[in-house]
Amino acid sequence: MRQNVAILGSTGSIGTQTLDVIDRIGSSHIDVLHLVANHRSPRLDEQAKRYSGATSAAVMVDGPKCLIDAVMDPRVDTVVVAVSGAAALEATIAACVRGLRVCIATKEVLVAAGALVMQLARDHGAALLPIDSEHSALFQAIQGYGPDTIDRMHLTASGGPFRTWSADQIQNATIADALNHPTWKMGGKITIDSASMMNKGLEIIEACWLYGLPESRIDVVVHPQSIVHSLVEFTDGSLLAQMGYPDMRLPIQIALLHPTKLDTGIPRLHPTQMGTLEFHAVDTAKFPALELAREAIRTGGTVPAVMNAANEAVVAGFLAGKCTFAQMHGIVAAAMDAVQPLDPMSLTDILDVDAQARAYVTSCLENHFGAS
Ligand code: MG
Repeated sequence: MRQNVAILGSTGSIGTQTLDVIDRIGSSHIDVLHLVANHRSPRLDEQAKRYSGATSAAVMVDGPKCLIDAVMDPRVDTVVVAVSGAAALEATIAACVRGLRVCIATKEVLVAAGALVMQLARDHGAALLPIDSEHSALFQAIQGYGPDTIDRMHLTASGGPFRTWSADQIQNATIADALNHPTWKMGGKITIDSASMMNKGLEIIEACWLYGLPESRIDVVVHPQSIVHSLVEFTDGSLLAQMGYPDMRLPIQIALLHPTKLDTGIPRLHPTQMGTLEFHAVDTAKFPALELAREAIRTGGTVPAVMNAANEAVVAGFLAGKCTFAQMHGIVAAAMDAVQPLDPMSLTDILDVDAQARAYVTSCLENHFGAS
């Protein structure tokens, strides 16, 4: 069956790799109807020319509503959500309410509004398919098994650029150090999150929502080779892993096509090429973001949304030279204390605490940490 796709975030790392996958799959399977990016760029213009049937829009030119407009096109049946951060929230909710196939790379949406998004997806028959490589691995490993057969999930983490650094060295990490990820080439925000391991903290919360488990049953294991993308431990003790080269095009293709499998020529990993695979416990004292994320999802309500928004703002602040790498954690923790939690929560509540958390971080960066 042909699919008609809207790509939110078409010029970013996931967006461009999604188009590569679609080119490999071929236009007999998938048509690209909408390309939405953050701003106009030569890359967006080139994409619009290449997919001549597609409309293109840029949030900074056409306004944030262009994300929702693309999702609301009645011809669209598949949406790829690859916009960085909580900006994708309203469009994802619209896609769930329309009951579409929602291929989701933006974990911040599930962190900020997991309860709401999962409920709407269930109510309206939307299929939420993770693009995040760890969650795609978990998704593949649980196929055919009911939720009560799952004991634990083990998220693998490369450990990022600071895996072998001491806490003191991390204190003095520069922007260039933090952007130097050993395995994955990604956008700036997720690369900084990987260095602090906040990315893995966000992924714990993402897995809680996608697979209905408490955080206490989701472990993190450091696996520097990034070959095993995550593991599911079943109640009988069986452990299933999904393996492959660290190449996002495979999880993207699975999200687009599941349960169909096509050979699109994505490089394959032969067992003899795997070499030695290492797995280590994570040093939570060196990477306090992990416990912060666990605390946020345990508390629940709007606290994960506050943590997520504060983290987005503080990462932007770090990349702009407004705070050090080591200061980021304390500012996010302070925002979680400062913003009054709301319960029950609606989209309005989530957007409200999101704005408060960002304002709090901005004032912290200006008043306490700013160079000016
Ligand atoms: Mg991931």
